[in-house]
Amino acid sequence: MTADVTLDVEGVADPSRTGPALEVTDLQVEFRTRAGLAHAVNGVTFHVDAGETLAILGESGCGKSVTAQAVMGILDSPPGFVTGGQIRYRGKDLLKMSEQQRRAVRANQIAMIFQDALSALNPVFTVGFQLAELFRKHRGMSRAEGRKRAVELLDLVRIPAARQRVRDFPHQFSGGMRQRVMIAMALALDPEVLIADEPTTALDVTVQAQIMSLLAELQRERQMGLILITHDMGVVADVADRISVMYAGRMVEQAPVHEVYARPSHPYTKALLESVPRLDQKGRQLSVIQGLPPTLTAIPPGCAFNPRCRYAREECRQPPVPPLYEVADRHASACHFWQEVRQDD
Ligand code: SF4
Repeated sequence: MTADVTLDVEGVADPSRTGPALEVTDLQVEFRTRAGLAHAVNGVTFHVDAGETLAILGESGCGKSVTAQAVMGILDSPPGFVTGGQIRYRGKDLLKMSEQQRRAVRANQIAMIFQDALSALNPVFTVGFQLAELFRKHRGMSRAEGRKRAVELLDLVRIPAARQRVRDFPHQFSGGMRQRVMIAMALALDPEVLIADEPTTALDVTVQAQIMSLLAELQRERQMGLILITHDMGVVADVADRISVMYAGRMVEQAPVHEVYARPSHPYTKALLESVPRLDQKGRQLSVIQGLPPTLTAIPPGCAFNPRCRYAREECRQPPVPPLYEVADRHASACHFWQEVRQDD
């Protein structure tokens, strides 16, 4: 494929760092499996501005991670295929780029951190070597310069005794410290967009809080666009600017974070909020969302949430899929009965 763009392969991000950094429009991803066609992402649209945190929220299997993999160009293909839509970084469509150009963007401008740092890091090299290699490969630095930068980065992510720890292998770090190393790797080339896919799920609650505040601080300092992918509504309240809620491969609610907490306008979001443990409701039984998300090879017609929805009526079970209705300023909900949901406390 011929690409129509010239990339900054040196990875120097736009110095202004304002406005939309990443725009995803009508993204479609399917998996061609023996069990049939799985519609993993069905027309997802979102954007993240420089210096902003967007949380993409939903249960496992709702399409969040597949969306992130499609943006990064790391979908397992086959069986996964991007079948439509646009993924624009600073206005340039990544889906129209050659693999080489895409790799350059991935290395320099859009980085990702994964849930499981141990499998994302190379177990046979020290973390110092792995960090130094990034600088050597992408910035043309010498080994010694790269190593110096590696120590600075481990310092930046608050790993104590960084000078000594660069000589350690990934398995010699605790889970929380390993996740810090992963963040250091992702930040090494100063990306403009960082995608964090469930970055704290495997960690205990105290370490989760430390990692989230570190990420938030680095994001502010560097004016990065942060896309935080999580199933945990409790994690996003303090760090996100906006929330997009996903269900069965679609965005079902999008709004600034305070709006979502104050006036959730989709029954699924409401159910997610009700399932977060709260200190002021000690002793009360925790609410759970009944049923399971649909199998992506057999998404129910109409609104995909209808089998689990306490507001569902006959028209919810028939096509078309509810569109995203504008329910307030910058707030949209894909529910036919959003007025009722907003009024119902
Ligand atoms: Fe529930 Fe119907 Fe709204 Fe879907 S459209 S969330 S089934 S009320």
